[in-house]
Amino acid sequence: MSAVNTSAQSRFHSVETAPENSAVQEQAIAVFRGPHQPATDIAAKVQALETLLTGAAAEFDSIALASSLAAEDNVLFDVIARLKLNIRVFSLNTGRLHQQTLDVAPALQTKYGQTVQWFEPQAEAVETYVNTKGRDAFYESTALRKECCGIRKVEPLARALKGAKAWVTGQRQAQAATRAELPVREFDVDRGIEKFNPLANWSEADVWTYVRQFDVPVNKLHFEGFPSIGCEPCTRAITIGEDIRAGRWWWEDPTSKECGLHNANLKK
Ligand code: SF4
Repeated sequence: MSAVNTSAQSRFHSVETAPENSAVQEQAIAVFRGPHQPATDIAAKVQALETLLTGAAAEFDSIALASSLAAEDNVLFDVIARLKLNIRVFSLNTGRLHQQTLDVAPALQTKYGQTVQWFEPQAEAVETYVNTKGRDAFYESTALRKECCGIRKVEPLARALKGAKAWVTGQRQAQAATRAELPVREFDVDRGIEKFNPLANWSEADVWTYVRQFDVPVNKLHFEGFPSIGCEPCTRAITIGEDIRAGRWWWEDPTSKECGLHNANLKK
């Protein structure tokens, strides 16, 4: 194991090694969805998920999972790795991610022997934004926030999806007002390719039941009040009773909280 991996492992909890495993998980889940809410027919959902991803990989010879390394994306990663599906996995390193998020990639590689491909923003565009607007100018207005997301996420996503005929996301309907009508499959008009949201109708409990059953590596921050994780300066921990996306761009109107990767959600 490399030095990087060793370092990552020391900060990273797999579900199996998280302290007081199930109690910690239940506490983490309770923070954002309230006490006990059992998974709904998880066996059928896993079968449907496997069928959907297998079919998507067969239908499209160039298809990619855009992973934010959150629990949902790691569930998808697990299916792709277990079934050896020809679906490329990439992540966007915005330059503002938590170290705990970066640590998930080597943990996945250690468990599955499969790498996450990184895409980073154009250095010149970042420099111009930082020098003309300020490194943290995104707090000042939604326009400046979207400009930062455009540079650090949307442009790299376009490069990551270059040549792809379809892409896969870990979005769920229950995550946000903007995702309430999210379909399992849609045509991404902005990019002119097919888009799959295989977990669209999965609950938080479904995701964590899968994580436990298949021992999927997860971001340590999920155990510290972060059900939804983005860039470090734009994500805060939430408390019991808050919406699961309340910690993302918490200073903005909930109906406009998308980073530009999933703009179609705002039109639904
Ligand atoms: S989430 Fe925040 S730091 Fe990250 S790209 Fe968007 S505005 Fe910039």
